[in-house]
Amino acid sequence: MIVKLKPGSSQKQVDRLIQWIEQQGLRIEYSEGESYTILGLIGDTASIDANLISSMEIVENVVRISEPYKKANRKFHPQDTIITLDNGTKIGGGHYAIIAGPCSVESEAQIIEIARSVKASGAKLLRGGAFKPRTSPYAFQGMGADGIELLLKAKAETGLPIVSEIMDISQLEFFDEVDVLQVGARNMQNFSLLKALGNLDKPILLKRGLTATYQELLMSAEYIMANGNNKVILCERGIRTFETATRNTLDITAIPYLREKSHLPIVIDPSHAAGLSRMVPPLSMASTAAGCDGLLIEVHNDPENAWSDGPQSLKMDTFDHLAKKLFRMRAVYEELI
Ligand code: PEP
Ligand code: MN
Repeated sequence: MIVKLKPGSSQKQVDRLIQWIEQQGLRIEYSEGESYTILGLIGDTASIDANLISSMEIVENVVRISEPYKKANRKFHPQDTIITLDNGTKIGGGHYAIIAGPCSVESEAQIIEIARSVKASGAKLLRGGAFKPRTSPYAFQGMGADGIELLLKAKAETGLPIVSEIMDISQLEFFDEVDVLQVGARNMQNFSLLKALGNLDKPILLKRGLTATYQELLMSAEYIMANGNNKVILCERGIRTFETATRNTLDITAIPYLREKSHLPIVIDPSHAAGLSRMVPPLSMASTAAGCDGLLIEVHNDPENAWSDGPQSLKMDTFDHLAKKLFRMRAVYEELI
């Protein structure tokens, strides 16, 4: 971290600032130029509040050189993290996995039909929402614990590991046999939830918030990892921009950016990004070509009558067709990189 002092600061004020910085456990490289004095802060600055230093009277500005996230940072962990599930399925570090299933679990027949179908198409994990974060309190809120039971039946039936969203830590008791816990976009900065998930030994699929920066996403991953759980999967699901024609805007740049900054697997959710099923195939192909580690795609046996997110859900045969193309695209990506 570099601190530039205002010209004309008194030596007494400078000494006081230096003393304060040293009390934080940092060393200082002092450089006095013709017009400015620069302080280089050396040491672990992750817990230092740059805004607090900026607000000090004698400080002109502060530049952070190193990122405030450590455990999620590729600098301190150069190899890609590979997440391995109980059945041996891997994601990250060269392992590509498609996660598919309905937005909401609706019935035993529905989830089992979809699970069988997406498995036959090559999906490696089954997704299904049981606790649903809906914008309207009057919309279907999910089947809750019963929905998790039905997902477990589909898992027993097909052998597919399951992914489901946890909205609140009080729901944890229902997630014992859920393989991957999803943190939804709206909960990305629910820090008490993130801390609690950090105490588990279970993969967490962390979705980027609607208006979150990459750094905020990585800091949320850091919350989980700081508590000891390193199994975090990052998920870009579209962000809110000035564009209103689509539900959100898929930020493909997230793939190369997060790849550079972090070692964690990166999954793209093209369904919530576009909000329209016909846009899911091109966005999935583009994401795969850009090197994502996996996709999270909403698939339904009857999208027109789905209890949530029908307009963005693929029909099972469309998903089957898309999956074939995605595996070919992935093979080309692997050949070219
Ligand atoms: C979902 O996966 O169904 C969901 C609600 O996603 P998001 O949190 O990205 O809106
Ligand atoms: Mn959904």
